[in-house]
Amino acid sequence: MIRDAQEVLSKVFGFEAFRGQQQDIIEEVVGGGDALVLMPTGGGKSLCYQIPALCRPGTGVVISPLIALMQDQVESLRQLGVQAAALNSSLDYHTASEVERALVAGALDLIYVAPERLLTPGFLRLLERCEIALFAIDEAHCVSQWGHDFRPEYRQLAPLRARFPEVPRLALTATADGPTRRDILTQLELTEGRVFAASFDRPNIRYRVRPKANPRRQLKAFLEAEHRGDAGIVYCLSRGKVEDTAQWLTAEGFTALPYHAGLDKAVRAANQDRFLKEEAVVMVATIAFGMGIDKPDVRFVAHLDLPKSLEAYYQETGRAGRDGLAANAWMTYGLEDLVKLRQLSEASAAPDEQKRIERQKLDALLGYCETVRCRRQVLLDYFGETLAQPCGNCDTCLEPVTSFDGTEAAQKALSCVYRTGQIFGAGHLIDVLLGGDTERIRKFRHQELSTYGIGGDFGREEWRSIFRQLVALGLVTVDVEGHGGLRLTSEARPVLRGERRIELRRDPATARGRARTAAKARAPVDFEDPAAEALFQALRGLRLDLAKRQGVPPYVIFHDSTLAEMARTRPSRLAQLSGITGIGQAKLERYGEDFLAVINAQEAG
Ligand code: ADP
Ligand code: ZN
Repeated sequence: MIRDAQEVLSKVFGFEAFRGQQQDIIEEVVGGGDALVLMPTGGGKSLCYQIPALCRPGTGVVISPLIALMQDQVESLRQLGVQAAALNSSLDYHTASEVERALVAGALDLIYVAPERLLTPGFLRLLERCEIALFAIDEAHCVSQWGHDFRPEYRQLAPLRARFPEVPRLALTATADGPTRRDILTQLELTEGRVFAASFDRPNIRYRVRPKANPRRQLKAFLEAEHRGDAGIVYCLSRGKVEDTAQWLTAEGFTALPYHAGLDKAVRAANQDRFLKEEAVVMVATIAFGMGIDKPDVRFVAHLDLPKSLEAYYQETGRAGRDGLAANAWMTYGLEDLVKLRQLSEASAAPDEQKRIERQKLDALLGYCETVRCRRQVLLDYFGETLAQPCGNCDTCLEPVTSFDGTEAAQKALSCVYRTGQIFGAGHLIDVLLGGDTERIRKFRHQELSTYGIGGDFGREEWRSIFRQLVALGLVTVDVEGHGGLRLTSEARPVLRGERRIELRRDPATARGRARTAAKARAPVDFEDPAAEALFQALRGLRLDLAKRQGVPPYVIFHDSTLAEMARTRPSRLAQLSGITGIGQAKLERYGEDFLAVINAQEAG
């Protein structure tokens, strides 16, 4: 029996329409074809295998490397009334055998398995006794050594094709670069499958980059203005900084928890659990946090330190706003971050070729930070996509950056680098340009230089911005073998000789005498009517109660967007409630009356 995909979409998931290429992908797989799906985080990959698994006879087998994610997905599916289970190393023997029994009995719609489990001879024999609807290989980039999450077991998945020739195979990933894509197709023997590549744009995420002045004060202002009561992630480079920042945010009245690889395993698990199950936890973390976090309502991702590359930045910021509602990617950065990352990369034992690649990636990142263009255009360009128009939802679009003829400023800065011997960092160089009276200036007699005190046209912050841009433009480089001093490159000579003009950006935050017209913050759900807002909060309260009672995250019951639609339309009967996005049959039966009671109580009150 093949069920109709559209019917499953509306009855089980409570969704009206397919998104993007979902329908084509689902038809391909329901029809027995193989496919590779490249879609950004939050694009809706899971439906692409969940619906075919429900439409085709037998059990859908989902191979996933991440235990936390498996459990989350299984819980979400159970809430929808789907028979789902997971098999992984966290289960005891008894539970695992029960799951296997259910599988063989044909009682499961979907089973999630870790690759090493799937590949055991015993489990493969078991599968041969079952009817299998499809194999879904999630996080398929794990098969590639190019990627960041290489898992050797993924390489052994290719024989599935020969062993189960009738079963369609579907590989899915949010990593889109060319080498990784080719690797997936060849390593998994998917070359005959269709490739579905979606745009990697995440239009609901607003990108902002701020020059670092006082990062804590900047972060606090951002959180207070836009994210009181929201869940989010703050990324820092080091464990120590994670701890300090979490403590400081707690003192500032936020619910902030630390997460890094140096913490006890139990503490990490507990913090992650709170992040998922409470509504407004700020996770302060190193990059150890995030893989396999499927929380849809992360409202912001903030970077207090530069990520390693644009790939890393895009992956980390991509954890915001999976639910499609407004979300923020916010970063503050300074020259000292760049120096630190260069030093780390240089000091590593990696071969020269790799160091060269790392340097290029850092340069691309710096170019992104210092751009005067739409940030989304720069990002998509980097990933090989073109966005024809500026997006209107990033800082450079919202507060257009003006540029100015920076040739003279560049000449002053470059000659100051040269005359001080190419060994000093930006702080001292700016002191010299501004005619400061510091111990260091006196020690090196820099007050006697021709560049001493010639920088009065700009303030300290503006000079910092100018030096950052000179590095971004490749006129100056950071001496990583020494103490991070600035040196001229060969590109600097034509500028010093007056043969090349330099256009510089005037940072909005440093622009003199100009009001700081920050773009208006957007609420993820906007209510015109205060009564709707109050109802929304009451519905969230009920959701949290129901979630706590079952020990599950609130979002597996309903997403914020579903509650917002309830608050706006105020259905009074079950039949009306069922028309709301995200309410399928199972949830209607399970929760409908409870939510109606809250709506009707407010109506009466
Ligand atoms: P991905 O795995 O690609 O990161 P998900 O499968 O988790 O994305 O989907 C992201 C969000 O979009 C989920 O909250 C999901 O319920 C929702 N979603 C997916 N497809 C649809 C659809 N056709 N209509 C409405 N919501 C959808
Ligand atoms: Zn833009």
